[in-house]
Amino acid sequence: MEKLGEQASRLVLVLYPFQGHINPMLQLATIFHSKGYSITIVHPEFNSPNPSNHPQFTFISIPDRLLESKVSLSPGDFMSLVLALNKNCAAPLKQCLKRILDEMHPYERIAGIVYDALMYFAQTVADDLGLPGISMRPTAAAMLLFAVIPHPDQAMSENPTDAMSEVRAAALNATKRSSAMIANTMDFLEEAALSKIKEYSPAPIFTIGPFHKLAPSNSSSLLKEDAYCISWLDKQAPKSVIYVSFGSMASLSKQDIVEIAWGLANSEQPFLWVIRPGLVLGSEGTELLPESFQEKVGERGCIVKWAPQREVLAHDAVGGFWTHCGWNSTLESVSEGVAMLCKPCFGDQFLNMRYICYVWKIGLELDNELERGKIEGAIKRLMVDIEGVEIRNKAMDLKKKAEICLREGGTSYSSSNEFTKRIL
Ligand code: UDP
Repeated sequence: MEKLGEQASRLVLVLYPFQGHINPMLQLATIFHSKGYSITIVHPEFNSPNPSNHPQFTFISIPDRLLESKVSLSPGDFMSLVLALNKNCAAPLKQCLKRILDEMHPYERIAGIVYDALMYFAQTVADDLGLPGISMRPTAAAMLLFAVIPHPDQAMSENPTDAMSEVRAAALNATKRSSAMIANTMDFLEEAALSKIKEYSPAPIFTIGPFHKLAPSNSSSLLKEDAYCISWLDKQAPKSVIYVSFGSMASLSKQDIVEIAWGLANSEQPFLWVIRPGLVLGSEGTELLPESFQEKVGERGCIVKWAPQREVLAHDAVGGFWTHCGWNSTLESVSEGVAMLCKPCFGDQFLNMRYICYVWKIGLELDNELERGKIEGAIKRLMVDIEGVEIRNKAMDLKKKAEICLREGGTSYSSSNEFTKRIL
């Protein structure tokens, strides 16, 4: 990987405080650090990352006043949270940057403010201070169409609320003023969307994903990863296990948990299931599992509160991933050639599911309500049937393409070097 020369350059990265955004931003920080940049991570107080996992970076917490703003933290209302963060964090970020500029050595400079696209206030702060603002997009590039074209294809939109429209308008405005956008994707995955974006976008876009493969970083999990599941996987036959996880934010009903439990039990496949506290609102989740389920599955099932997901997906024993189709999970699965069973819950997950099942054809859609018979059938289709074999072969082909992208001369590799040269 190309490195900087003698110049001492610092990048300030502004985090949006949720797991699916913290991971790619800290991975991107690792990529920049490997190219010779000093890294400062500015983050709201809410969901603070653990600095001791990343001793090479400087972490600065800024007040977010979320308690005062009385915003709800439920996924259904998360646009109000975005608006509150953008309102409350602007002045603290400006103060923080002024302090960094005042205290910097004369030979040092801030090369840019890289902000999560949902923290668009950072662009205004960067403009005020005469610094380049760079927007980081942790979603599929196709979602970026919202940011660069005011009225995108109807198929992408989901009856926007007032808060959603306000966020989109503000994000669009910030994008127009940004010096560049960085997207966590690969060109070959999204050729059509990317060429459309390039037609409209005022700022150059650099596609340098998947970040986690370009510069593997330490874990940035907010919950403790349970390593037991790796020793459990070590005892399973190759490609036999279905890994089940709905990410960090999606929620299910009590009945959903019971249906999933019986679907997994009756499928006769080994499974690793992440039931994080809060997956069922106000509950630990595991207490909802029927007793006879535990007896039926015994050692065939492993349930954890949080898994080291990238390691799980890279494990030989894993043959399928039942996912909520978060973009990070999607990229992590594509990178390891793992076929998916898709049950999107909200937002961009529906778009990602369409990519997985109908464009790349490396997954099956689990539509309608969660029901044990349908779940059992879908797991068998993916893990056992001839249909599943074809899907898994396609997933392996995509993995190989992803590897080419990341090698010297590949699109993501070149784009990350180009970014360093042209923008910074
Ligand atoms: N993740 C993890 N352990 C788990 C479940 C998820 O480390 O048990 C990580 C996963 O690897 C991914 C992130 O959490 O990087 C979830 O992001 P994603 O975009 O898939 O979904 P979100 O949580 O934002 O809905």
